Amino acid sequence: MTIAIYPGSFDPITKGHLDILKTGAEIFDRVIIAVARNSEKKGFLSVDERVKLIKESILDIENAEVDSFEGLTIEYAKKREAKVLLRGLRAVSDFEYELQLSQANSALSGDIKTVFLTTKPKYNFISSSTIKEIYLNNGDISKFVPEAVYEYLKNRKVS
Ligand code: ADP
Repeated sequence: MTIAIYPGSFDPITKGHLDILKTGAEIFDRVIIAVARNSEKKGFLSVDERVKLIKESILDIENAEVDSFEGLTIEYAKKREAKVLLRGLRAVSDFEYELQLSQANSALSGDIKTVFLTTKPKYNFISSSTIKEIYLNNGDISKFVPEAVYEYLKNRKVS
């Protein structure tokens, strides 16, 4: 049984993230989407809000679950007995950072491999920060985020 961790901020989860998750769930036996609790980063949504929205967005993916973690991703992966870290690549600009991260993780624990996936082209440009920008300027984000995120943000006051 191969368990993969899909770690990230997911602030909020987008259709790009979901596409990566769905492909990961076709390849691996189980995928755990893991929201990093990073105390230095002040998020747009709280970690609990992000987890709740992810939970509502992945109901149809039977072998996927959501969790949150603190500290090193690699330690969390070991705790969950995962052998794979799943990451998405959008453009060359993602590559340098992702390469460094995967090599650092591999130096920390050679047993856990990073696997990169790409999305369908229509989701490729979507990032959580672009979505926040559009939302905070009252733009329509319905095409870019799962229904649960759209409904939640629609009813949330912009502060
Ligand atoms: P982080 O803060 O760790 O970058 P994100 O939540 O922004 O976390 O992203 C998690 C992972 O999903 C990263 O590997 C990122 O490159 C990938 N990702 C995000 N959006 C997309 C997308 N539209 N297409 C492909 N991969 C994506």
